[in-house]
Amino acid sequence: MIFDTHTHLHFSDYDEDREEVIERARKEGVGALIEVGVDLEDSRKAIELAQRYEFIYTAIGVHPHYADKAEIEKFEALAEEKKVVAIGEVGIDYFRSPVPKSVQQRVFRQFIRLAKKHNLPVIVHSRSEEKEGKGAKNAYLDALKILKEEKVEKGVFHCFCADREVAKEVLETGFFLSFTGNLTYPNAQTIRDTLKFTPLERMLLETDCPFLPPQEKRGKRNEPAYLRYVLYRLAEIKEISLADIEKITTRNAQRLFGV
Ligand SMILES: [Zn+2]
Repeated sequence: MIFDTHTHLHFSDYDEDREEVIERARKEGVGALIEVGVDLEDSRKAIELAQRYEFIYTAIGVHPHYADKAEIEKFEALAEEKKVVAIGEVGIDYFRSPVPKSVQQRVFRQFIRLAKKHNLPVIVHSRSEEKEGKGAKNAYLDALKILKEEKVEKGVFHCFCADREVAKEVLETGFFLSFTGNLTYPNAQTIRDTLKFTPLERMLLETDCPFLPPQEKRGKRNEPAYLRYVLYRLAEIKEISLADIEKITTRNAQRLFGV
């Protein structure tokens, strides 16, 4: 079975055919998935969907681009809802961000404290200011600094796109690295390099759908059934069997999210 650790199937992108998308996921061997919220209302929708399907779980949080309207106090009660297995996505995103860095950092810290209080892992979203050069790591480094200061050891950097050096630091904190469809893109050499370096025991898989479809489905809406393509590529890069990838990454996710 495959565990898709990051989906947004409650988004309106799926209003026309959500049931079919979920059906296709099951047929392709996706045995569990985590519905991830990006703000308060959205987190409520994610919970609702998760409560309707046994194999769907949920994470609640506020994407850093909405951090200035976080209403964190309202998440206290949500964190107690059935099927909530993580806080996220939360984090730091400096790429064309409408929210000041200091606000993002403060809200990230608040959500980390909420996660610790409820003994939940954190799903971290991190995107740096620039693709290359000096600003290419700044969001990752700031997020890591906060995680270390707050002494959190349970969580994952979702859609990991940074280099080995950052990956090494993430691994030292105890966090997992999660990889998505963008590792199949022709220009994604940095991600593939990081992937080679990262032990399978510390890796999770995700679609981040509707975003980041694998190369074979580029330009289309992504969905959990397409996670297969990521697995094929991963097997090639890591020189490991598909069965082992499924087994180990699923076990990692089950352990982290306690399901
Ligand atoms: Zn996401």
